[in-house]
Amino acid sequence: MSIEIHPTIAAISPYTPGRLAEEIEREFGITQATKLASNENALGPSPKALSVLQDVTRTLNRYPDGNGNALKKALATKYGVAAERIILGNGSDELISLLVKVAMVPDDDAIIAAPSFSIYEKAVASVFGNATIVPLTNNRYDLSAMAKAITPRTRLLFVCNPNNPTGTIVNNEQLIPFLHQIPKHALVVVDEAYGEYATAPNYPDTIGLLSQGYPLVVLRTFSKIYGLAGLRIGYGIGSTDVIETMNKVRLPFNTNTLAQRAAVAALQDDEHINASQTMNLTGKELFYDVFTQLGLSFVHSEANFVYVDTKKNGKAVFEALLRFGVIVRHINGPMLRITVGLPHENEQFIAAFRSVMQAPSLSNMSRVTP
Ligand SMILES: *Cc1c(COP(=O)(O)O)cnc(C)c1O
Repeated sequence: MSIEIHPTIAAISPYTPGRLAEEIEREFGITQATKLASNENALGPSPKALSVLQDVTRTLNRYPDGNGNALKKALATKYGVAAERIILGNGSDELISLLVKVAMVPDDDAIIAAPSFSIYEKAVASVFGNATIVPLTNNRYDLSAMAKAITPRTRLLFVCNPNNPTGTIVNNEQLIPFLHQIPKHALVVVDEAYGEYATAPNYPDTIGLLSQGYPLVVLRTFSKIYGLAGLRIGYGIGSTDVIETMNKVRLPFNTNTLAQRAAVAALQDDEHINASQTMNLTGKELFYDVFTQLGLSFVHSEANFVYVDTKKNGKAVFEALLRFGVIVRHINGPMLRITVGLPHENEQFIAAFRSVMQAPSLSNMSRVTP
């Protein structure tokens, strides 16, 4: 027995996760591989989050709070919004998939930038929607081109801010005029997975904009600065009716007890957040210095990763780095994305990267086993 797969679904390319450190250690017979590929927080989970987990395990025979009331209340207090305007998700990935489900029917349109987070396109295809791809210009969102791409069937416009993989932002002065061009039948999804890392003074206050009635939904996650990617929890903030509709279609227990409790603690762990922000700023400066010394162009990032032009075959550089036990992300062509790690991890990357970039030939290099 087999099922017939719809060609739209068959055409979705599977998500390629970052390679695991253990996998690379086994494959190349090395110890101490370093993963700088998935924008995780190398400092680890929030210690406050870890400290509540032990206590929670005793109650794991019970179903979670299907409404996640304690976490929603903590978020509502922190951001000054009503709890009814918050939805929790099994990572913000789940919220992306809920959004396309409630907003789109087959042949509706969504507008997506490229390169940006690959999940948007997969989610749109999964509900048989059409994705209109608008390329970045100069590594930045081209909001006027995105506004021009709006059709009567446009339902969602995705703005990843800061953008993964470039680290650039759409600022407040760019976002507001764009929001004014959004017709009644469409909604802007602002994905702020890296929002807690952004330091630009004109980074938009989207939650404030929401309160003023602008047509957007904000997505955030505990996977990045809070260091809880393995627990799978994120949240969305939007208008009451959008959030209510998303709540109708989600699974009743989409977020688990451990994740909910850890998230409440992590949200209040200012020490961990501050340490993560500081480590990130120092790490980015170090990367910028090295890239400048090597004569490479890179993009100043508002997130916890840097997008760099290796001016070589990026896939070959990526593979050569693996042999040094360093896992980064190849985006396309010469472009790599490197997540800021712990100081010793950054040093491991830099040493490997210098060797690879200065090697006379990458193809020779990939034949050498360390
Ligand atoms: C990592 C990331 C997410 C969050 O994923 P989770 O499902 O919350 O782990 C969302 N959007 C972008 C752009 C990301 O890079």
